[in-house]
Amino acid sequence: MPQDASERYRGLTYPFGRGIDPAPGEVVQIAEGVYWTRFAMPMSLDHINLWLLEDGDGWTVVDTCLNLPSARETWEGLFEGFMGGRPVTRVICTHLHPDHVGLAGWLTERFDCDLWMSREEFLMCRAMASDTGRPAPDVAIRFYRGAGYDEEELERYRQKFGNFGRAIAPLPDSFRRLVDRETITIGGRYWQAIVGRGHSPEHVTLYCPALKLLISGDQVLPRITPNVSVFPTEPEGDPLTEWLQSSGRLREMLPDDLLVLPAHEAPFYGLHVRISQILEGHKTDLGNLFDLLKEPRRAVDCFPALFNRTVESESMGLATGETLAHLNCLRGRRRIERTTDADGVHWYQQIPESIHYGDD
Ligand SMILES: [Zn+2]
Ligand SMILES: [Zn+2]
Repeated sequence: MPQDASERYRGLTYPFGRGIDPAPGEVVQIAEGVYWTRFAMPMSLDHINLWLLEDGDGWTVVDTCLNLPSARETWEGLFEGFMGGRPVTRVICTHLHPDHVGLAGWLTERFDCDLWMSREEFLMCRAMASDTGRPAPDVAIRFYRGAGYDEEELERYRQKFGNFGRAIAPLPDSFRRLVDRETITIGGRYWQAIVGRGHSPEHVTLYCPALKLLISGDQVLPRITPNVSVFPTEPEGDPLTEWLQSSGRLREMLPDDLLVLPAHEAPFYGLHVRISQILEGHKTDLGNLFDLLKEPRRAVDCFPALFNRTVESESMGLATGETLAHLNCLRGRRRIERTTDADGVHWYQQIPESIHYGDD
């Protein structure tokens, strides 16, 4: 490991440097048989880290990038170059988001190998992909109108509806299920699958005790707070409570001296500190949101409590989902209540003298 590149920043240590930005398809060795490669993405989050694990005569790959011609080209370069003509024998996806699952169907078909995923991620991914080509359903329009969208914002949502399926190659028709706490063998070493919830339904992280590594997907990221959102498919869901609980569980279960291999940004040490920072951030957000709701407000009026920048129209969907996640969490704790006006718009307000359930 290049000790000279090591950087310490806000309680985390980045052994390869904090700003290291390997070129697409460049390969960095992490440990014996474990390699890091980075793929480019044409969006504000402009890259994803993928992991190549030597596995007998072939390769296990973890996550796959978006279904883009440029990403397929990067893969082709790796097949012929670094991966030495040895086949991909297993594809593992941490979760269903298109940057992770985008080329899973393409890889498994090309190498005639299995896709390994948790069941909720696999099924939800298939369900979401099946929305592509349909118009936005009425319940979804009602959901965003309820959050305070105007007609222009609703129209933008209608236009974007179904984009999920366009960003991924179709998933295979069957898969190999990964179960929470299951141990699998990759390259002769044990790796344990540990499920986290809230960012996606049944996100898998992979822990290798022998190598002291954690492939953390989007469950634990440095710098970025993983998005936790409510969507129209489950308007009353409380993913933030699931997120807080499962992140806390991860911190209890896993040792602190692991090198964390996140899907975005650079590998780092400081797993427990980072989880604590993320949990503290949500606690602050919930407090600020509660304070803002002395007066009744709509979801879209609550952005200033959670985001310290103006929410542009491209990030409106994520900001709304994230705000609703915090609102539903406070409703679950009986701190605030929701009423609905004649136009179907939801208004949130503190419950006076509210009895406090759960954590504050
Ligand atoms: Zn994700
Ligand atoms: Zn991601």
